Amino acid sequence: MNFYGSLSVFPRLPMKIKGLKQLAYNLWWSWNQEAEDLFKMIDAKKWKESGRNPVSFLSKVDYQRLQKVSQQQAFINKYNQVMNHFNDYLQQEETWFKDNAPISIEEDNVIAYFSTEFGFHDSLPIYSGGLGVLAGDHCKSASDLGLPFVGIGLLYHNGYFKQKINGEGWQESLYPELHFSQLPITPVKDELGEELTINVKLLDREVMVKVWEVKVGRVSIYLLDTNLQENSKDDRKITAQLYGGDQETRILQEIILGVGGTKALYKMEYSPIVWHMNEGHSVYLELERIRKLIKEEELSFNQAIEVVGANTVFTTHTPVPAGNETFPFDLKEKYFASYWEDIGLTKEEFMDLGQIYEDDDEFCLTVLGLKLAKFSNGVSKLHGKIASKMWQDIWEEVPPNENPITYITNGIHTRTWLASEWEELFDEYLPANWRMKIKDRNIWENIREIPNDKFWHTHRKLKSKMIDNIRKRDLERKRRYQDITAVKDILDKGALTIGFARRFATYKRATLVFNNLERLNKICNKTDKEVQLVFAGKAHPADKPGKKLIKKIHDIAESKEFKGKIVLLEDYDMNLARYLIQGVDVWLNNPRRPLEASGTSGQKSAINGGLNLSIFDGWWCEGYNEKNGWVIGSKERLKYTDKEEQDLIDSNSLYTLLEEMIVPLYYNTNDKDLPADWINWMKEAMISIIPKYSTDRMVQEYTKRLYMPATIKGIKAKKDNYNISKNLVSWKEKLKNNWEDIEITSQNQGEQGTFNITDMIRFTVKVSLGELSPDDIQIELYLVTENGKEKIDIISMDLKKELENNKYVYSTDIKLKEIGSYKYTFRIVPNEDRLTNKHELGLVKWIK
Ligand SMILES: *Cc1c(COP(=O)(O)O)cnc(C)c1O
Repeated sequence: MNFYGSLSVFPRLPMKIKGLKQLAYNLWWSWNQEAEDLFKMIDAKKWKESGRNPVSFLSKVDYQRLQKVSQQQAFINKYNQVMNHFNDYLQQEETWFKDNAPISIEEDNVIAYFSTEFGFHDSLPIYSGGLGVLAGDHCKSASDLGLPFVGIGLLYHNGYFKQKINGEGWQESLYPELHFSQLPITPVKDELGEELTINVKLLDREVMVKVWEVKVGRVSIYLLDTNLQENSKDDRKITAQLYGGDQETRILQEIILGVGGTKALYKMEYSPIVWHMNEGHSVYLELERIRKLIKEEELSFNQAIEVVGANTVFTTHTPVPAGNETFPFDLKEKYFASYWEDIGLTKEEFMDLGQIYEDDDEFCLTVLGLKLAKFSNGVSKLHGKIASKMWQDIWEEVPPNENPITYITNGIHTRTWLASEWEELFDEYLPANWRMKIKDRNIWENIREIPNDKFWHTHRKLKSKMIDNIRKRDLERKRRYQDITAVKDILDKGALTIGFARRFATYKRATLVFNNLERLNKICNKTDKEVQLVFAGKAHPADKPGKKLIKKIHDIAESKEFKGKIVLLEDYDMNLARYLIQGVDVWLNNPRRPLEASGTSGQKSAINGGLNLSIFDGWWCEGYNEKNGWVIGSKERLKYTDKEEQDLIDSNSLYTLLEEMIVPLYYNTNDKDLPADWINWMKEAMISIIPKYSTDRMVQEYTKRLYMPATIKGIKAKKDNYNISKNLVSWKEKLKNNWEDIEITSQNQGEQGTFNITDMIRFTVKVSLGELSPDDIQIELYLVTENGKEKIDIISMDLKKELENNKYVYSTDIKLKEIGSYKYTFRIVPNEDRLTNKHELGLVKWIK
């Protein structure tokens, strides 16, 4: 049947508590326990049944019930308290951003953050894993810090799949239809009160896109939806599933996200000051912005990319080339042929934007992102390094450690992941304003003052809550395929419990701990020192090796030796994640290094006192301090002959740590029956990790190091009717055209040989600049340690003398502060004062 329209009915609320509607439609409630408690007070059973989704919940509770609670003083008191906190938060005048923004900006100026997935809460299932949860946490902190910020994503009407694991251990995927009227989303209206839509051109047709809004504290997230009457059956399915469909679906989703998202922002009359692309899925936003500038401002293509790049930030998350999305040229041509004509490029010039080498056979979104954005970053220190190396050939002559890819280490939204039981304890022992000072390490030192018995009691309570939840889930799953009569409880609430939950991508090596089952058996089944493991995670439905990992865990969990000690849980999502990271003693993470760009689940566990047992990879390289967890394998990056060897070495290290360090530490209790040393480690984990790995710290870094410089560059790029950008483009062209002909012709270092530590050493070079002038370039002395690995310093040299024929003498005097052997060389680079990054052109002329 073809329905003519749709409508949704929101329940009537008693006058006295009518604010519940606004509360239900703002995800602020999800990181404020008191707000969740308020919903629970109305009807705890229905709250659970509704999947802890306040919109759906309010539509299910009886009106009588609502009326009854609105007459109860206790409820009204709580209601007033929550609503006051909520309104204070929304109206707060003084924010971190206000205190720290170097320039004042207009109302419609926002940082526009694009992401293909957002994980805000399990009741809005438009995320698959770490990338989405990170995006959600980023938005929450942007709200807490008062950033002028909006998010743009897609609204998938089947969301991400729900996972079942059958009796044989095979994953099955379900795609339930989401009921939009039951989600905390509202259609955006235009000035006439009509639902706002935009059109996106795909081949010869226009696809209509509806825009929905989600409120996350003070910020809005706009989600795009093609499932409309006006569209063809196929086009309605474009936004059906996250990471579903084939490659063509992906390209269509990405066009809707990038091109549609940009159009939607303009239609809503935003003028973004920064465009942030969280991973490559949204890179087409740059193409849309370029097209618009060419058409409306009559810029050339090169001028347009100068303007667009100036305020674009690109974050890459993928440390292997194969993990970066690419498309075959014919598919690209199908959807972009009309586009490159529009912007005056040839097919070759266009394809070149997504290629590094001439013989690349696919178009890579990351390459496009990195080539156009002036600001780019990886997501941990190690990943920044790996990404710089991986993409070094985009900036040909530039040493990888100097190329424009920087890093900002991921964090988590503390209050989303911290158990409310800990919050209560912190209210008692920490300064009252700790929620506003997450980044302040001194605040957290107070955790040491919490008495050990109270501290341990809190952890045990959370662990017990987790195990109850696991038992319930396990039973539900097994009842589907087993005839369970006599229920024997799985897991022991007193035993050392290890958690492993994440996407089942093969590089994460979910089954590494099973490398030697005999040894694991001894560890798990030692009398009075038992160890148990809990697993959860989804494999992408097309990932066969990932599904095999799940099957293997299922089989081992069913075996005699491990029954009740190893548990596999279904349908890992943010809700299950919260139980696990708050309840386990140890969080296991054993990826194949260096493939975990950052990882964040270990941070979630640590802030709840979980001890990380992890490969030295991603964030753990920075987080580990020898007393807050353990490192599996080596801290050095070793070369292995093959993967099996690497697995063997890492798994042996894992067993040894368990046998010799972890199990003894956990079971070493004092006369009060408390594991005092273990508790000290837990406290150390919290103190060292809470302040550093919060998205508060992360978003502040993004703001100071990327958003604000990008804002300033963006304003400058438009100035003077784009003349600054136009001049910059001509200057860049002059540089490129003449770069071949410049050189350093001779060098002379005053004295040769050995120096004393106090000696001033003079370096002099002669350069020939051809058609360029000293204003165009700078000459640098490049100094490294003898082995050539460590860059010591790059020193800009001074112009000393002009010779005939555009030749010049440059020199510098330096003192070396440390004894040792050094190597040096000289180079010419573009004058960095005119650029965002002195290497953005990839031009470096080294002395021959
Ligand atoms: C935090 C989180 C992740 C990310 O975990 P990693 O450590 O990065 O693998 C994935 N899924 C869910 C549901 C999460 O909450």
